[in-house]
Amino acid sequence: MALTLFNTLGREFQVFETLSPGRVGFYGCGPTVYSYAHIGNLRAYALHDILVKTLTRRGYEVTYVMNITDVGHLSGDNDSGQDKMVKSAEERGQGVLEIADFYTRAFFNDTERLNIQRPTVVCKATDHIEDMINLIKKIEERGFTYFAGGNLYFDISRFPSYGDLALLRMEELRAGARTGLDENKRNPQDFVLWFTKSKFENQALVWDSPWGRGYPGWHIECSAMSMKYLGEQFDIHAGGIDHIPIHHTNEIAQSEAATGKHPWVRYWVHNEFLVMDKGKMSKSTGGGVTLQSLVDSGYDPLDYRYFLLSGHYRSQLQFSFEALDGARNARRALLDRVRALADKTGIVPGLEEKKAGGKAGGYGKADAYLKAFDAALDEDLSTPKALAGLWTLLRDGEIPSKEVLAGALVMDRVLGLGLAKEAEGVWNRGEDLDFNREIDTLIGERWEAKKNKDFVKADEIRNALKKRGILLEDGPAGTFWRRG
Ligand code: AMP
Ligand code: ZN
Repeated sequence: MALTLFNTLGREFQVFETLSPGRVGFYGCGPTVYSYAHIGNLRAYALHDILVKTLTRRGYEVTYVMNITDVGHLSGDNDSGQDKMVKSAEERGQGVLEIADFYTRAFFNDTERLNIQRPTVVCKATDHIEDMINLIKKIEERGFTYFAGGNLYFDISRFPSYGDLALLRMEELRAGARTGLDENKRNPQDFVLWFTKSKFENQALVWDSPWGRGYPGWHIECSAMSMKYLGEQFDIHAGGIDHIPIHHTNEIAQSEAATGKHPWVRYWVHNEFLVMDKGKMSKSTGGGVTLQSLVDSGYDPLDYRYFLLSGHYRSQLQFSFEALDGARNARRALLDRVRALADKTGIVPGLEEKKAGGKAGGYGKADAYLKAFDAALDEDLSTPKALAGLWTLLRDGEIPSKEVLAGALVMDRVLGLGLAKEAEGVWNRGEDLDFNREIDTLIGERWEAKKNKDFVKADEIRNALKKRGILLEDGPAGTFWRRG
């Protein structure tokens, strides 16, 4: 089986193939840091995480880039309304960058609590204004822009494939156009690349540019930063479905206009919304529930992660506390099972991966389950099936406990439900954590030595441990130790 993703561009399942062998360039739209992320936003980042971890498990080297929007995102994605950052700073009586810094930290605190891996590159819009200006210059040189009313616009009529991602039809766009929104626009879907005339006098952050002192449009930041870190064409771009018709459509238009290369991005992956009471959950409407509020109500952040994984990312997910309770109970049952297994086996953490070289294989009877687990994720990242796979493995009483636990811990490297920590809690009970880690390191070194056919060193390590009363046991699921 090969990893298959549903590509929004073309609306079909496609086998994933990289631009350069073994490497994946992945860009995910990051947060606008004007307030706390709500739990709907966090769904988008949970998808990034599953994608990155699945690719890593497949052996790819993933460069995961995420932007932090700290300027230019207006309340309406379509150049309408006030800059979200400025508005928030005004309301709180603080500086824009202060606000940005505070909510960026809060954001990563949330993602960390959800076991969401940090991106390889986190880039702030305000640190990349020069890159944006240079990109806009290229777009201008290639004839895709016009200047009107103090702003530089992208002219979508110069870009015939505009709207392909969203399946927008040009004739329909013209016919259904809302007029009067911005009289400077030649086509209603034209968008601003560079503002000099803010509708608001108090735009806090402005920079010099060839078009006058001002600030960039929101869409250009993602094009500029993704191409800076991933090259003019790259593999995957992700975001919520709300970004398809405007933000991502505009990102494609301006990127391909600048480079003349098509496709700019090979796979577009979009998560459906988390909804509450059938409405759209949006930070802008202020109706958002935060992760902290769930914690305050007694939930573990990973209960929420479990809840998210129990739905497929392309299906709308309805949030309710009953559903979250269900997720909490299910995760507690998982942890109970893992604790019981850890108690029985005394497995040493960290070895399973070394043993298997990071790939499936080497877990004895759990291998078949790992294969099914990988197959589930190959099916457009089906986390509900992958979770079910974890459960069937844990329920199999026929195979050795060590193999069950080793297999479950490997699955949890992708699922991120805190199983390893739970097992470690059992193994370290009454033990010195540093001592356990030291033994773990030595076992790892012995395994390396064996791999390099340095059997003398391998034996030395075994004997040194034996002198300390630690006996090693090599088995199909890894090396285990016990006190002898
Ligand atoms: P923002 O910080 O508003 O730019 O949004 C951050 C990410 O969250 C984007 O990828 C949005 O598409 C996504 N998003 C916003 N609301 C929701 C929601 N209710 N459910 C899932 N994803 C969302
Ligand atoms: Zn973006």
